[in-house]
Amino acid sequence: MTAILLRGGYVIDPGTRTEGFFDVLSVNGRIASMSPPGNTLGPEGSTIVDAHACWVVPGLIDVHVHLRDPGFPLKETIASGLRAAAAGGFATVAAMANTRPVNDLPQVTGYMLEQARATHSARLVPVAAVTRGLEGRAGVDYRAMAEAGARLFSDDGVPVDDEALLSRALDEIGALGFAISLHEEDRGLSRNGAVNAGTAAKRLGLKGYPNAAEAKRVQRDLALAVATRAPVHIAHVSTRESLELVREARGRGARVSCEVTPHHFALDEAATLRWGPNAKMNPPLRAPGDVEALRAAIADGTIDLIASDHAPHEPAAKHLEQLADFFSADRDAPQLPPREAEIFADCANGIVGLETSLGLALQLVHRSLIGGARLVEMMSLNPARLLRLERGSLATGAVADITVIDPNLEWAVEPDRFRSKSRNTPFMGMRLKGRAILTMVGGEIVYDGRRGDS
Ligand SMILES: [Zn+2]
Repeated sequence: MTAILLRGGYVIDPGTRTEGFFDVLSVNGRIASMSPPGNTLGPEGSTIVDAHACWVVPGLIDVHVHLRDPGFPLKETIASGLRAAAAGGFATVAAMANTRPVNDLPQVTGYMLEQARATHSARLVPVAAVTRGLEGRAGVDYRAMAEAGARLFSDDGVPVDDEALLSRALDEIGALGFAISLHEEDRGLSRNGAVNAGTAAKRLGLKGYPNAAEAKRVQRDLALAVATRAPVHIAHVSTRESLELVREARGRGARVSCEVTPHHFALDEAATLRWGPNAKMNPPLRAPGDVEALRAAIADGTIDLIASDHAPHEPAAKHLEQLADFFSADRDAPQLPPREAEIFADCANGIVGLETSLGLALQLVHRSLIGGARLVEMMSLNPARLLRLERGSLATGAVADITVIDPNLEWAVEPDRFRSKSRNTPFMGMRLKGRAILTMVGGEIVYDGRRGDS
């Protein structure tokens, strides 16, 4: 028997509308009881965790991570990625399909789940590709992928350009009960632009990626969502136009959810001038007005959830050495010479996020934009709903996936201490307040930051 008693923490469980001080007891992997603090005695041999001054919340879930496994062990493996997840407070992460080989066959899904089981850390939910090889030409066997364990479908990294193919996929995947997560980009308009079409592009002398490249594709796909009534999820929304389209489509009956990444609500395009390749992602960091609109949409409920889009890359993929003379944390970069502009445009997109996501999301609470319950809704309950998982709740009998958060613990982002194999982050040195100190999966402690383990 395994029993863990979390004593005296502040429970925030929006799924059961519970908020207050409780002792939470987990026995054999399930929540056994939640009782007024102070007197709970676990069964003999229980592990006691002092959770005073901490939040006790259902295990956090990230629906959008890239674990690079199979295929790119230099960037990340399932083992290193899941340990990074657990250290960031995540009990479950959904791993995108753009691995090598692509996750478009049950064998690949099986490999991912097998690696995850062997890691004994956070849980992995496989995301299956919508099209074979992410090539946009032919659909995969959705039923076989769902039977192998996929609970979300996405070609993330690239958009699904073929509208008829996407429409059929929505029908079929919707009939299986699952959602498609869409990377929304009209590549005719983005022209694979390196940075936001605005200050960043102008100052660096780079091709811009305009808001319209996202919004135009969101508009097309929300029309499909209205027509098919299938569940559609919009990945990494970055523009105010997209948010307007989501609100409007909901009014017309679309079953649409959407996510925002911490970098898109915490940073604007100015960060690109300092961090260069480590602030380059797709979609790019946007103008301050978009960031304001994203924050407002977090507060008013338009945005359903926060997802990291954890995208590890080694320094060479970011061409850091070749661009080292141009970017520095304490001054804006000059206009890039043509050769360097090309190198910049060619560097890989994305940043790591699993170990900074919660700290950045907590800034929203500390600045009183949202309360703790809304944060937990966006980082556990709504992600569980998107993945059709019975998670995101601390009800008696529920699986004991639990995150203990010290909301006031101050720390600085030190990439050298990440569990992730990669260090590509624009948050290096940033002071954050609040982090996970304990992560439990199925009643087992998979991360313990109390032992100077942070
Ligand atoms: Zn994407």
